[in-house]
Amino acid sequence: MLQSCRQSLFGASAVFRASSNFQCLYTQSGRRTFATQLQADDATDPRLQAIDPSQLSISKTTTPKDLVPNEELVFGRTFTDHMLSLEWTASEGWLAPRITPYQNLSLDPATCVFHYAFEAFEGMKAYKDKSGNVRLFRPDRNMARLNKSVARIALPTFDGKALTELISKFTTLEERFIPSHLSARGYSLYLRPTMIGTQRTLGVGPPGSALLYVIASPVGPYYPTGFKAISLEATNYAVRAWPGGVGDKKLGANYAPCIVPQMQAAKRGFHQNLWLFEGPNGEEYVTEVGTMNLFAAIVNKEGKNELLTAPLDGTILEGVTRDSILALARERLQPEGWVVSEKKFTMQDLADAADEGRMLEVFGAGTAAVVSPIRNISWRNRLVECGLEQGEECGPITQRMKNWIEGIQYGEEAHPWSVKL
Ligand SMILES: *Cc1c(COP(=O)(O)O)cnc(C)c1O
Repeated sequence: MLQSCRQSLFGASAVFRASSNFQCLYTQSGRRTFATQLQADDATDPRLQAIDPSQLSISKTTTPKDLVPNEELVFGRTFTDHMLSLEWTASEGWLAPRITPYQNLSLDPATCVFHYAFEAFEGMKAYKDKSGNVRLFRPDRNMARLNKSVARIALPTFDGKALTELISKFTTLEERFIPSHLSARGYSLYLRPTMIGTQRTLGVGPPGSALLYVIASPVGPYYPTGFKAISLEATNYAVRAWPGGVGDKKLGANYAPCIVPQMQAAKRGFHQNLWLFEGPNGEEYVTEVGTMNLFAAIVNKEGKNELLTAPLDGTILEGVTRDSILALARERLQPEGWVVSEKKFTMQDLADAADEGRMLEVFGAGTAAVVSPIRNISWRNRLVECGLEQGEECGPITQRMKNWIEGIQYGEEAHPWSVKL
């Protein structure tokens, strides 16, 4: 039975047999496992389900891919030779991890991920330092966040330390795909941990089986020719996330509905949506931009420099970059007199800052670009300028943040956030 579970997703012939096993495993003993799992919402919780990295099997490809030249890399377009996979069943927990050649999945059309969006993912990167060591950046944060995401959609939690160990082995195996960045920072291997519900059923309920896999894509600098400041459209006709919702989780279901508003903004000449959320008195709170967190640097009404970002109130994704920027700002900007604030602020606050000459700079923050400078925001038939002079593409705080974070990611500054493999 175990054997057919293990083969279920990698070989069409085994699918039907394995799927009926999943069904029966689940009905036999799934419920008790789920009751314990639902309480496990913290990465340090001992009830997180065990993964055994010592059981890892590695089956290497016999047809290694050619490397794509650095200058031709497109984000998420090409992938490495292998993938890391772990299957889970409600009765047996996490089965032995496997590294196999990168390959298609084989899933029954009735598999629950296709119907009810049982899917959560992560985005993290592996970097190569000047001495050729491979490094991860705060992987514990990605593991904790994925655990929160999957727990919310009744998928199994997992031991984040064990998965990090497996990701490290996988990354080391794929090391040749991490572009060398000896001339410029910005090259890395983007890692995409993904978990899906794999139970074959149209019944709406907790999946009795799941697959956790990790694929990797070599990426180049987000801004190959230097920063290019972007324009945003403040969006209030569509809402990305709301209190009590799941906008603070990295669930696939949060992203597809954002594409039409993004296309509409693009048609009007804007790169991204700035997602607003309306307060009880019509306040237009600033939340996030596209798939990045947003920071604004202004001179506040008391005349102090202030770095602002929205609070984690359930409508904001808990960005690892956001958290890193806040920590570095408190450590390095606060002593220079900056106020660092996680608090609600509105589009009107930003427009007032711009109109009163108090706007310094605005930027997005996320793993893909680290920081992304913002030139202006279209709001109520006007453009709110975000502090950049004509021809200027990046403000000094944005630039310093990028330098600090990349310095740590590429191991140029020794820091506990950078984990050498
Ligand atoms: C992933 C993501 C971010 C950024 O998170 P990082 O951990 O910094 O990459 C911000 N907002 C949304 C909506 C996201 O999906």
